[in-house]
Amino acid sequence: MIDPFIESMLSSNPEGLACRLRFDYMKPGYILNLSRIAEHEGIKVKVANFKNRDIKGLLSKKHMWIVLNGWDSANEQRYALAHELGHYFFHFPGNFICNQDLMYNDGINVFSEHERKKAIVELYANRFAMALLLPFDEVYREWLFASTEEQMAEFFGVPVYVLRRRLQEMRGLGFHV
Ligand SMILES: [Zn+2]
Repeated sequence: MIDPFIESMLSSNPEGLACRLRFDYMKPGYILNLSRIAEHEGIKVKVANFKNRDIKGLLSKKHMWIVLNGWDSANEQRYALAHELGHYFFHFPGNFICNQDLMYNDGINVFSEHERKKAIVELYANRFAMALLLPFDEVYREWLFASTEEQMAEFFGVPVYVLRRRLQEMRGLGFHV
């Protein structure tokens, strides 16, 4: 039997919510301003130089703040902010401490029920972040014009690794990218 929580997470669609947020917050011709989304929700976004450089972002729903790692590049921070907003919008209780592994590898190797739920919550936040920052139609359009993946990643303000994952996902869906 599939756990109802896992089932509900798997059947919800992060692309839909991301699309709605982009529609609400994006000025035509501009890159999506994530700080505006956070601000509108009453979330304070801070940057701190964490001792543990592996940590990419924190979200406290109780205190309504997100903290990003000051050691990270601007694009890494942007992706981390989108990921934490994913946790915020998906109404999963608690605080989140998200490290490199959870954010970039989806924490696949987990076995206990608790860890499996956590991994799915992380996977979900990653999918949301990619949907928010790299919409299929825009990525496809840029792919036609940009000559390198690095240029494309810079255009969208994301780490190259994240762009590559999105391109891979799009190939699986039948896009010729
Ligand atoms: Zn996370």
